[in-house]
Amino acid sequence: MDYSSYVSAEFLGIFVPTIMYWLLSGAYALFANTKKYRLHPKGEEDIKNIPSRSEVIKIVLLQQSIQISVNLILFMFISDNSDAIKPEPPFFVRLIQFISAMAIMDTYQYFVHRFLHTNKFLYKHIHSKHHNLLVPYAYAALYAHPFEGFILDIIGGGLACLLSGMTPSTAVYFFTFGTMKTVDDHCGFMLPGHPVHVVLENNSAYHDVHHQLYGNKYNFSQPFFVTWDKIMGTYMPHKLEKREDGGFEAKPLKKE
Ligand SMILES: [Zn+2]
Ligand SMILES: [Zn+2]
Repeated sequence: MDYSSYVSAEFLGIFVPTIMYWLLSGAYALFANTKKYRLHPKGEEDIKNIPSRSEVIKIVLLQQSIQISVNLILFMFISDNSDAIKPEPPFFVRLIQFISAMAIMDTYQYFVHRFLHTNKFLYKHIHSKHHNLLVPYAYAALYAHPFEGFILDIIGGGLACLLSGMTPSTAVYFFTFGTMKTVDDHCGFMLPGHPVHVVLENNSAYHDVHHQLYGNKYNFSQPFFVTWDKIMGTYMPHKLEKREDGGFEAKPLKKE
């Protein structure tokens, strides 16, 4: 076994998403004192959310240690341990694998996420933990029951990776993008000129609607597209209303 090649892509795939989670969260923390572009008034996260910030950090670190351990096993499965150096597939093949993985992840997460809501037992004992955040913020993205972290993110990511046929080096990009997207969806801001919002409608405002009491039965789609919500009739359109302090409010356009 060529240990040096094992360390390269696999090592990155295991640790880079976690590092980027905290770097992006740190970048959003730079906006901590600004009132502009916020989806909720400044300070509301400390009033409306049930878990304290230290509780959030504790749970997120637990999720990440489980994630790292499982990914270590996953990468042992998808890495080629033979000594022969195989070329990576052409760019367009990797691109198709990446987009397929996004579709697989979205499909899996939509139905599991929706089931975590419709099954009263699972909602009460598992998924409500994540919904104790009425005002999401960046580093709270992974705040959830460890069972949810495992079933939704770890199994979802693993399936997307294995079924799309991607190599470990493509998986590094996929896991990193997926992790950063999740942080971004919970960041609590709608920043102007955001590069991902230009392409993907599933953004922080879209997911903020889901975190509100009125949005609990809508906008299950995550983390990339809104397709499954539209197909299954759970799409809640919203408009961004400007608040006086320079922030926004994601107002639903559909009444129950
Ligand atoms: Zn939910
Ligand atoms: Zn969420």
